[in-house]
Amino acid sequence: MKKYSVGIDLGGTKILIALVNRETGEVAASVKKKTKKDKGPKNIIKKMLEGIEELLAESGVTTEEINSIGVGAAGQVDRENGILIGAPNLDCYDLNIKQNLEEHFNLPVYLGNDVEIAAIGEMKFGAAKGYDDFVCVFVGTGVGSSIVKNGKIIYGATGTAGEIGHVIVDLNGRPCGCGAHGCLEAYASRSAIERRIEGALRKGRKSCILDYLEGGKSITSGMIRKAIEREDELVIQCVTEASEYLSGGLASIINFINPKLIVLGGGLIEAVDFFYQKTIKKARAKSLPVPAEKIEFKKASLGDFSGVIGAAFLDERK
Ligand SMILES: [Zn+2]
Repeated sequence: MKKYSVGIDLGGTKILIALVNRETGEVAASVKKKTKKDKGPKNIIKKMLEGIEELLAESGVTTEEINSIGVGAAGQVDRENGILIGAPNLDCYDLNIKQNLEEHFNLPVYLGNDVEIAAIGEMKFGAAKGYDDFVCVFVGTGVGSSIVKNGKIIYGATGTAGEIGHVIVDLNGRPCGCGAHGCLEAYASRSAIERRIEGALRKGRKSCILDYLEGGKSITSGMIRKAIEREDELVIQCVTEASEYLSGGLASIINFINPKLIVLGGGLIEAVDFFYQKTIKKARAKSLPVPAEKIEFKKASLGDFSGVIGAAFLDERK
């Protein structure tokens, strides 16, 4: 077995590329590329190729020491053929990532989605180490999840299992990016909380979060944490509302799948402990009594690296 694999987390705003030690899960070197302006298939491939070359040059590791390249993308993927079917945030459709990278490096390339790789990372070296029956839920721009049963990710008939963000929590509710109404992520994502706060500010509500928004900055998880520490009424109200919905989503997972553990991750969970604590307490209260008593909750523990570490092990999928 070769010592390293390259793991790539292809997100909506950045590409994180890492050289991962396959034995220890340690990130030996990493490179970050922004994808803010130059998106589209050509730019994305170019940035990935450049990033991997930089990583190899910096670390002095050659392709002979690398087992494989694994890529997890924020979008819909065709795992078998290594094609990114659709990633609106990256302006990429039908992009053959496997072929492009394999031709360049002559190494096997595997493709998965962003939540799947984070779940693999947490299972191998993070919060879910030692568990083979759990669900990972990540709260960010959307709400995504990955289901692990007997140590394997459950993909479903069309590879889309785990789309907890599009479970409908209000039949006549807010519109969602997917085209439906009342999806969980329209209520419980970081973006949903931001929209609620911004809407209230426009209506003239007062909030100390305004202190951090000078110069047209947009709301971050860190700002939400600071506003809660300052006991800001509006921010506490919006975060509490989101946790009410998220806990309902978690209770549905607990009742429906009955996992041993739920791992919660993403910037908002990491930054705002108030949100995490409130959510897990309510999720337990809303679940059926028997699973509620046994369910364990943990925060994801690998931070930004959970995705790249997991991606480095996508070759073990079959
Ligand atoms: Zn939806």
